Amino acid sequence: MISIIGNLKMNPGSLSEFEVYIQNFLNFSKNKDKNIHIGIAPPFPFLEKANKIIENDILLGAQDISLEVAGSFTGDVSVSMLKSLGVSFVIIGHSERRKNHKETDLEISRKCLRAVEYGITAVICVGETFDQKEQGFTEKVLKEQTKNALKYIKKEDAHRIVIAYEPIWAVGTDNLPNAKELSFAIESIQETVKECFEEFSSDTHILYGGSVHSENVSELFENTNLEGLLVGRSSLNVEEFFLIIEKISENKIIKEIKESE
Ligand code: PEP
Repeated sequence: MISIIGNLKMNPGSLSEFEVYIQNFLNFSKNKDKNIHIGIAPPFPFLEKANKIIENDILLGAQDISLEVAGSFTGDVSVSMLKSLGVSFVIIGHSERRKNHKETDLEISRKCLRAVEYGITAVICVGETFDQKEQGFTEKVLKEQTKNALKYIKKEDAHRIVIAYEPIWAVGTDNLPNAKELSFAIESIQETVKECFEEFSSDTHILYGGSVHSENVSELFENTNLEGLLVGRSSLNVEEFFLIIEKISENKIIKEIKESE
């Protein structure tokens, strides 16, 4: 099953704009391929509205979670608050939070535990910088980040974990990994997941994120075993987001035909 998640980041700028966006999103989603899971992660203030409007086959996500359960943590949003708003997944450790909010691997691992404890799927972002890639440290970085994030997660909760490979050099740019780079990253993450859970878990899915749009999405699925996408900028335009989904459906069908030949 392929999953496509839209990360709206700090957009749009007002509730009224979000109402238009989410209604449009819902209309487009009616014609989508039922075999593709769709998730949308709006900013916190719009979660309630989204929860009221979206239908069951669209998953609602948050962009962060507090590592604390309750108490004096100004500005934090707790797991029970998210749960009460219908949130079923949360993006954790996005490179923008690692960089702008100085989130550490320890905090990320505690956030993952918090989500999973309450039955929320943790979509954990991992990825190397351009310099790390150039110096040949991609595998090391991905393994470390994945291992640290999964520190408190038990193998029976593997189905509540999704890892999004988001190379920092590709997020918010126009760069894309080639099939070899992407496959290498996916394999490194899979191996680490296997080490953490002491067995390969097909329950833990791996997504890719970074500069995906409808014109380049097909190449990402060619010769890789990618299981989905985390989409930033292209999710701000509903039509473009669903065009990406349409391209994946076509690509999947072509792959299935090829495999049956
Ligand atoms: C992201 O920030 O998660 C992301 C994938 O961004 P973009 O698609 O805009 O590169």
